[in-house]
Amino acid sequence: MPGYCAFCLAPALAGQGWCLACLKTLPWNRHACRQCGDPVTHETPLCGHCLVEPSTFTATQAGLMYLEPIKELVHDFKFHASPRAGTLLAELMLLTPPADLGDALLSVPMHPSHARTRGFNQSQWLAERLSRQLDAPMVSANRIKDSPSQRTLNRRQRAANLAGAFVFESVPPAHLLIIDDVVTTGSTGHALARAALDAGAERVDIWAAARTPLGKD
Ligand SMILES: [Zn+2]
Ligand SMILES: [Zn+2]
Repeated sequence: MPGYCAFCLAPALAGQGWCLACLKTLPWNRHACRQCGDPVTHETPLCGHCLVEPSTFTATQAGLMYLEPIKELVHDFKFHASPRAGTLLAELMLLTPPADLGDALLSVPMHPSHARTRGFNQSQWLAERLSRQLDAPMVSANRIKDSPSQRTLNRRQRAANLAGAFVFESVPPAHLLIIDDVVTTGSTGHALARAALDAGAERVDIWAAARTPLGKD
């Protein structure tokens, strides 16, 4: 409902999708690892995992943690393709943008067979929206390998599952910013960043609406 807070239905701030009270209590990801975006409890630029096993992407910006009420919003967006939920997520992302937008936004491609059955690519939707809002160019990759559901796999299995899944048809711009709704283990970003670097990109970052807190620091 326009004019009302998406989280509590109180009157919203003018031109925004939320009220001030809800905005303040959202699960903001204030102290996060610079590289993977995982919340850290002490002041440190990198979490323990990234110190030991650096990733292919350089930085992750995820302004929120994947906790309620953001979980419900993402669910509405991802599984019900709710444009209102998508708009809210894009607006929340724009409140906490990355320091550097790079040369182009890159969405996470879906395998054609997956796109046919589910029909909605939330990463593509967000990238298009942010590209319009920020007047930033977009580039795309192809997904040539269908990966079974990642949900039951551990970090290493996810990485193996995604190896060689993405390809670029032409040399991408030097600095890319992957757009996604939620970063969980970072395996998808890692595989897509690997493909971009192999295709000639020099740096890949991630900008997501939310980060699943793994608490590995
Ligand atoms: Zn509210
Ligand atoms: Zn990290």
